[in-house]
Parts: sequence; C-alpha cells; structure tokens
Amino acid sequence: MKRTTGQDRTVTRRWRPATQAVRGGTARSEFGETSEAIFMTSGFCYDEAEEAAARFRGERPGMTYSRLQNPTVQMLEERLCLLEGAEACRVTASGMAAMSAALMSHLSAGDHLVAGAAAFGSCRVLTDTILPRFGVETTIVDARDPQAWAKARRRNTKAFFFETPANPTIDIADIRAISDIGHDAGALVIVDNAFASPVLQRPIEFGADVVAYSATKLMDGQGRVLAGAVLGPAEWMEKTLLAFTRHTGPNLSPFNAWVVLKSLETLDLRVSRACENALRVARFLERRGVTVLYPGLASHPQHELAMQQMSAGGTIMAMTLDGGRPRAHALLDALELIDISNNVGDSRSLMTHPASTTHYSVSAETREAMGIGEGMLRLSVGLEDAQDLIDDLGQALDRVGL
Ligand SMILES: *Cc1c(COP(=O)(O)O)cnc(C)c1O
Repeated sequence: MKRTTGQDRTVTRRWRPATQAVRGGTARSEFGETSEAIFMTSGFCYDEAEEAAARFRGERPGMTYSRLQNPTVQMLEERLCLLEGAEACRVTASGMAAMSAALMSHLSAGDHLVAGAAAFGSCRVLTDTILPRFGVETTIVDARDPQAWAKARRRNTKAFFFETPANPTIDIADIRAISDIGHDAGALVIVDNAFASPVLQRPIEFGADVVAYSATKLMDGQGRVLAGAVLGPAEWMEKTLLAFTRHTGPNLSPFNAWVVLKSLETLDLRVSRACENALRVARFLERRGVTVLYPGLASHPQHELAMQQMSAGGTIMAMTLDGGRPRAHALLDALELIDISNNVGDSRSLMTHPASTTHYSVSAETREAMGIGEGMLRLSVGLEDAQDLIDDLGQALDRVGL
C-alpha cells in the first residue's frame, strides 16, 4: 500500500490543520528520513546540457538555483499554503521582506495605497516614507472604521493594507467589510496576520486576497530565526509577486526554513496554550485595576468582532499605566521573570515600551494619532506557568505603587 508523503495536494487538502501542520508538504529524499532534510545548497546540477536548457525554458520540472527554488523552502511553502487555505506561498528572509515584496511587487508609480494607521513601526515607514519615494500615494486611515476605508478610495487605488490585531494598540479591523470595500474599488486586499497566525485567524476566509506574515513571531515562536511569508492566489503569485522576488532576492535560507518547518509541528499547541495564559494574565491585570486591551476580554471595544474572526483572543495585550514613560519604564525594570524585549510571539513572555522602542522611528505626532501613549506597555505572553507570570506582574505593580 502506498503511503501519503504530504505532497499530493488532493490528499493533503482534506487533512485537518493539526495534521497539515505536522505532515503537509513533506518531500522525502531517497533515504526515507523521518524529519525533513535541510538542503543547504545554492545551486543544482544537471545530467546533460539539454536538461539545464529545458528547465530554464520552463519545459521540464526541476530546480535551477536557490533564489528560485529550494526543496526545504518549498516544503515550508506548501505546508503554509495548506494551513492558510491559500493557493500559493512564497517565504522570505523576514516579515518586512514579505510586507515590502507584497506591496512593491503590486504597486507602481501613480498608484494609490490605503493603509491602516495602527501598524508595526517598519510597516508605517514603508507605507509613509519608502513607497511615496517611488511615486505611490498613501492614505492612512483608522482601520477600525470601514467607512474610513470607503472614503479613502480613489480611481487609482490599487491596494488596501492592514493588520488585525494591530501592533501595538490591539485594534481589530473588520476583514470582511474592508475586503468588500476594497474589491469594489478594484484594490488588492493585503492583511498582515502576524499577531494571529493561521491557528487563530484565516483572513482569506473573510475575503482577503493576500496574507503576509512575520514568521519570526508565532510561527518560529522560539526566538531563533527571522522569516516571513506571503500567501495568495496562484496567478497573482506567479505574475506579480514572483516576477518581483525572483529578481530582487528576499529569499529565506534553507536552514531558517527548516527551523520554521519544525516549529509548525507545535504551532497549534503553542498558540493555544499561550492564548489560555494570556487570558488569565489579562483577567488578573483587569482585577488589579490596570487599563488593559486584550481582544479576549469583554472590555475590549471590539471584543465581539474579534471573536467572530479569531478562535481565541491571541497572545498579545497592551496596558496603559498612569504616570507616563517613567512609570512604564519603572514597571519594566521591576520585572523579575518577564523579559524586557521588543519581540512578540515567543515561548518566553516579553514586555516592551513601544513609544521608546518598536515605534521610536515613527514621529511623536504619528504615535499620538496611532494611540500609542507614553504610558503604554505591550506584553506578549508565552508558555510559562500563568501563575508565575501573574506573580511577577503583581510584585512589579506593587513596586511601582499600582
Ligand atoms: C514583527 C512584525 C513585522 C516585521 O517582521 P520581521 O520578521 O521582524 O521583519 C511585521 N508586522 C508585524 C505585525 C509584526 O509583528
């Protein structure tokens, strides 16, 4: 009897996500290894000259150069396609390589982009500073308000870009409503899904066209590698994204692809546990009287929408302390277990002060407009025992007099 290797999509599409995460996309070599092999090779050899020529003409399958194809990288791309329910995937060297490739491959001088205000700092630099240098006009809107997207549309609008939940204000955007408005305008709808992962939210199911990731976050989830991914329709991937990345080379190394591939095997377990921990921590903070924004709490202004789109509240929350930056920095310094770190989606719980770190490079006025106050702290909850996290936050709040 023939065993399925995870490569035949007609079979793997039928698997449930937990099975896909472990087995999807596996391509075994002639040695029959259990764990996926790392193909650390830049190039490939051919038995004869005509074979090389035929592959370059695209008439025969087979790999030619690792900027274009690599077996380990392709296993990761196929596994991500299955998890996301997307037709095609390209992985990249970092999340920002994914975001910039998705936007720059699609937009040209004279095009107009509408983007959500609350976003990862580097995404705002991309939309507000880099793309306009190449003649792309950008309008920034409050992503929470679908009417703002409708009003921002123009004749030359080619793309909508937003994240949900958004970094670091934990705003939720209505993927279905915004996608409908975007499609009406003929725009490609691109969602940065880094804070949710396909375990919690699959934007394509709500009408988005393209999903982009920092796989550095929940997908690796153990603070080891930078990685990114772009997922979307096969035709767009071939004609637009690959037409750009083949020649600009934002490739993911086969080694880093392998690390993420192995991490996907535990993605569901890790994300589910971190969400449980995050909910307990958020409830504790609320009981202590701290202003906390967490989509899984009924007090989050968009709790209902978040729960329609996501299967749990996520692993990240924002809290705002009275007393501005001095109080916020004092709380960070009082922590004994939770690390001061600007990363998120790690197995270790990490806390940062966005105004002085991740969003330091956006102007004070932009931060103000984004709702990033001087007293705001962002907490990414990991896999430690939730009670230890609560104890650490409790003693730190005591020490800063809250
Ligand atoms: C981290 C992050 C990025 C950038 O990803 P890198 O892997 O650091 O390049 C983009 N968007 C969001 C929402 C992020 O959290």
